[in-house]
Amino acid sequence: NTLNWMDVALQKANDSLKAGEVPVGCLFVYNDKVIATGNNSVNETHNATRHAEINCIDQVLEYCRQINLDYKEVFRGIDVIVTVEPCIMCTSALYQLQVRSIIYGCANDRFGGCVSVFQVPKLYESKTTITGGVKGDEAMALLKQFYTGTNPNAPEMKVKKNRKKKETQ
Ligand SMILES: [Zn+2]
Repeated sequence: NTLNWMDVALQKANDSLKAGEVPVGCLFVYNDKVIATGNNSVNETHNATRHAEINCIDQVLEYCRQINLDYKEVFRGIDVIVTVEPCIMCTSALYQLQVRSIIYGCANDRFGGCVSVFQVPKLYESKTTITGGVKGDEAMALLKQFYTGTNPNAPEMKVKKNRKKKETQ
């Protein structure tokens, strides 16, 4: 169920934290099966668009290519489980793909595109449903660890860089 999926997403977020990335974890579930998992890889790739959700979208496209499925059809049956409210970019992408639902943990007060900063859903005629606040406290605790630099596994340079980034954003 949703809570179990969110536990898996939180585990991915924790992996992300250990790798020095913003701790966001994401799963795409299709017919009760996880067909994509992702975390942020912005620092690793030096590409600011490599959010967890975008990495999952790429995996679904690859999955559909390999077993010859219509990706448009598949996306419409996908439930997105993500530890943090998707940003405006990712929410827009998910709405364009018409995913079935978005289920997230904590709010994203800086960039949230579902409700917090901008309401992307207002731009679309869509059947996509949004549910927030699923295990949000745990997701927020991981973010706090990252932004306060208390993650013992983060290399010191990266912690400093991220602090600077936070101030300028
Ligand atoms: Zn995003």
